[in-house]
Amino acid sequence: MIDRTHGYFQREKETMSKKKREAYLKEKLSEILRYGYRYSRAIRSRFDAVGVKPERVKDLKDLEKLPITKKTDLVNAQKQTPPFGGFEIVPKKGIRRIYFSPGSVFEPGEWDYEDIRWAQALFACGVRKGDVVLNTFNYHLTPLAFMLDESLRMLGASVVPVGPGNLSMQIQLMRQLDVTGFMGTPSLLMSLVEAAEGMSLDLKKDLSLKVAFVGAEMFPESLRQKLEGKLGIFIRQVYGTVDVGCLGYECPEKKGMHIPEDVIVEIVDTETGKQLEIGATGEIVATTFNKVFPMIRFATGDLSYLIGNPCPCGRTSPRLGKILGRTDQVTKVWGIFIHPWQVDEVMARFPWVGNYQIVVTRKEYRDEMTVYIELKEDVAEQMDLRRRVEREMEEVLKVKGEVVFTVKGGIPDRAKKIDDRRIWE
Ligand SMILES: [Zn+2]
Repeated sequence: MIDRTHGYFQREKETMSKKKREAYLKEKLSEILRYGYRYSRAIRSRFDAVGVKPERVKDLKDLEKLPITKKTDLVNAQKQTPPFGGFEIVPKKGIRRIYFSPGSVFEPGEWDYEDIRWAQALFACGVRKGDVVLNTFNYHLTPLAFMLDESLRMLGASVVPVGPGNLSMQIQLMRQLDVTGFMGTPSLLMSLVEAAEGMSLDLKKDLSLKVAFVGAEMFPESLRQKLEGKLGIFIRQVYGTVDVGCLGYECPEKKGMHIPEDVIVEIVDTETGKQLEIGATGEIVATTFNKVFPMIRFATGDLSYLIGNPCPCGRTSPRLGKILGRTDQVTKVWGIFIHPWQVDEVMARFPWVGNYQIVVTRKEYRDEMTVYIELKEDVAEQMDLRRRVEREMEEVLKVKGEVVFTVKGGIPDRAKKIDDRRIWE
């Protein structure tokens, strides 16, 4: 049953001891695996393919015995067995909504929404009973806006289901209804701020906004500072996907994103599917306890790492660090994985670097990596600088490459950060 006491939403659950947390997750995991195996054709066939019975998965480490489910697995299964691919467990009372999400995935929405993860996230962001919240996420076909809508109800807050509509209407609604909370993408919030400034409004006086809850996009710290400063409010971000729901949320401390209790999040090696240690970067893989459409080891395609040390807010859950990029942007050079975020990390050390691009080619069966860099300004001692960048690239990427400086505009604006031009024949 949902905790409808608004004093401190889910405090007891969020502050469980390590031992209690492990026992809780073990029990939840065992329950969903048995349930999924029994009632979902797709889940059963995935267990059978590797010859594992649910009883053999006793703890989180044992999850490694099960295969990773990729989005393409889901899409292919749904093509063969429309609409839900056999992953669904449809209860007698049926489905409330049928969603159709990007990537062409059908998803059944349960009759009674009981998942508290988004509500936990909203509470941690500062949303409370009596707040009036503008939901600018899209209510059209996909589940996110609906899940958040239901979650506000759990907290006792009112929702203005505006969707990503026109900006001046949104601002008007915010003023007429004394809206105290915003939900949406950071870029939409920025557009709202710019539009309000364009109408010569005093953002702090003319709006009643207290908190903003943002997600679905990268949220750089510089943008947070800018928006928090202009609006004089608290902005916290959340991470999740339409397939597996909320996987992490920031608390007031904003030291990473707390993983909610009712989901298992693993960080795995993209090649082997094995779990990585705390701090190591890998793919975010989630197992949900949703009894209508459970996902077992669903690969999100996003890269991050775990933070294990305790958070000053008192919540005892492990946290996800920054989202560092997508697994499909990865390239292998000389047998070593290269991620765009690693390149970003190196380039951030050199203020005079503008656009840049890594081009991978192949010459006489050998990989060659060239890094093209646009200079923001003329720099002296180019030879020295080139060597410095090459050295730092090698240190971070573990692969040698050649640096070539080009003039401004030398790299097309929408060029891929890593352009793999190798031809395999
Ligand atoms: Zn915290």
